[in-house]
Amino acid sequence: MLEWLFGRRKQLLKKEVQPDERDKLRRSIWQASFLEDHQCEQIIRWSRVFIAEKTWEGCNGVKITEDLQWQVAAAAGLMVLAYPDWYFDKTSTILIHPQAYKVTVTARHSALTSGTEMAGEFYRAGETIYRGPVVLNSHDIAIAAQDPNDGHHLVIHEFSHQLDMINGPSADGLPPLPGNVDETAWLAAMKGEYQRAQEMVSQGYMILMPDYGLTQESEFFAVASELYFQRSNELAEYHPNVYLLLKQFYVTDMADIVR
Ligand SMILES: [Zn+2]
Repeated sequence: MLEWLFGRRKQLLKKEVQPDERDKLRRSIWQASFLEDHQCEQIIRWSRVFIAEKTWEGCNGVKITEDLQWQVAAAAGLMVLAYPDWYFDKTSTILIHPQAYKVTVTARHSALTSGTEMAGEFYRAGETIYRGPVVLNSHDIAIAAQDPNDGHHLVIHEFSHQLDMINGPSADGLPPLPGNVDETAWLAAMKGEYQRAQEMVSQGYMILMPDYGLTQESEFFAVASELYFQRSNELAEYHPNVYLLLKQFYVTDMADIVR
């Protein structure tokens, strides 16, 4: 099985990059026009594997098109430019709704998640489930593909939770770190930045970090990751410490690339 899988991967990676694939990449992530050619080629090859290996399911009438797959794959591939062998193997299925969808969280489910989820009916843009599917919606996927917009990027948000959960079943804002980054120092710095952002908001300051990023440390990591890829220069200017921490993690220096 593994031999077959890696043989197929090898084939997909080897094939020459085609002009129409470059067009697909440009239509999928606006950052592509700032990347070096070898980085574009890496994301294209990576996306082929990601698209081929995941199971794609449209929900509530969504048709899974090649463009939609590329928009998801290219954004995920941009995140792991420094880790090209990582294909988010802990998730095998991508579910895509047309827009934010209604979910019912029961009291029992809320208890299972240690009360981090309130019981009730809510609209969700997406979610990521440990060793389960990543759920997205095509409306938000399209908004982020061509534009830094307000810094929001649903695909990057949900896949940063996936990275966060590589080392445990719950997202806690601490993904596995590269060998040269000290975990205790990283945790203390990230927690410090999270608390400082909360204090600034409580004192009435307007900050770059959207409120949702201040609800939990796992959301702080996910929302900061969105800003890292969508509005990197502003993140570097207004939250330089957060920018540096994420640069240690993602390695690819986005502010330098889109400068
Ligand atoms: Zn989240």
